[in-house]
Amino acid sequence: MIYADNAATTKMSEAAVNRMFSVINENFGNPSSLYSLGQRAKEILESAREDVAKVINARAKEIYFTSGGSEADNQAIISAAKIGEKKGKKHIISSAFEHHAVLHTLKKLEREGFEVTLLNVHENGLVVPEEVASAIREDTCLVTIMFANNEIGTIQPIREIGKICREKGVLFHTDAVQAIGHIPVDVEADNIDMLSASGHKFHGPKGTGFLYVKKGIRLLNLIEGGAQERGKRAGTENVPGIAAMAVALKEAAEKMEVNAAHLERNRNRLIEGLKEIPHSAINGDETKRLPGNVNFCFEGIEGESLLLLLDDKGIAASSGSACTSGSLDPSHVLLAIGRVHDVAHGSLRLSIGEDITEKEVETIIKSVKEVVEYLRGFSPIWRDLTSGKKQFIL
Ligand SMILES: *Cc1c(COP(=O)(O)O)cnc(C)c1O
Repeated sequence: MIYADNAATTKMSEAAVNRMFSVINENFGNPSSLYSLGQRAKEILESAREDVAKVINARAKEIYFTSGGSEADNQAIISAAKIGEKKGKKHIISSAFEHHAVLHTLKKLEREGFEVTLLNVHENGLVVPEEVASAIREDTCLVTIMFANNEIGTIQPIREIGKICREKGVLFHTDAVQAIGHIPVDVEADNIDMLSASGHKFHGPKGTGFLYVKKGIRLLNLIEGGAQERGKRAGTENVPGIAAMAVALKEAAEKMEVNAAHLERNRNRLIEGLKEIPHSAINGDETKRLPGNVNFCFEGIEGESLLLLLDDKGIAASSGSACTSGSLDPSHVLLAIGRVHDVAHGSLRLSIGEDITEKEVETIIKSVKEVVEYLRGFSPIWRDLTSGKKQFIL
């Protein structure tokens, strides 16, 4: 099988699996226990915290372990909103193509009386920093813009946006789930106050993640209970998962440059090959995108049928995001960059992994070409387009 859905989840690295098993077998103690078995688990936890912090140029004290990216997004946003509310600040700025962990949290806050401005991401899938600046008001308590988009892979001008927020004294959070372990992230240089990450997007285990909160910024807890994570996240820590996540992240950071170069080469070949399909278009900026992300629209077909037929050919890919699959609405990300419904329905996301080979890339190109042509052969929309009854958009 060719696995080209790494934006949905990644396979755990061998080192991460080994680490997880060794901690499960040899260090099953509770980090809150005072005897040495517990204290060894505590040491594992704290050394993982150091390792994770180092990769993003943070301090260990600024890292809070969570159950994943969704929880980190929820905690960062809700905490910032509730603290802002106490100062009479109930306005939040975000973008139209955020992950649902962000958008649905914002919707909930709107129902509680907060006002949310969702910035346009334009045709190229990028937020314009000047537009963030002009959206900031006296009562803005938070700006939350994702580092890299999970569907179309576009990388946002985070450093510039962070700088604007610093100058205006507004808190800045970024959902960096797709960026961490794949492209350089430096919380100091990038002017980030809060950042969310998820272990299973960089070859760590599912159900692990972390929230970075800059020293001096207050954080509220969402889960009541024990005093774990310095009182900010109750519940016995997932020690084996956290230890494995730290190993996976260290590994990803060490190999980042080599991996990114390999991915980019193969991504560019995929883009070049898929462009040969008539009435197709790449989604999002062609170069300001994650090294492993390819996203296309093909006019006159349904993305779901494309996926099923690719699966028959041994290729695992995605159309829109895993969260919207199963619903009839096209991806909110593709609509946000201005794709009309009919076109957005015919989308394909290929998120390749570090072990992809040139031969596999050629297989993907050939298979997508065959499947698109086959599906167009009996598509009523395609018939209308080719007979002139409907106008081509792409
Ligand atoms: C996967 C993903 C999340 C959710 O992370 P989980 O660990 O699965 O909860 C949030 N944001 C982005 C951009 C993602 O890609």
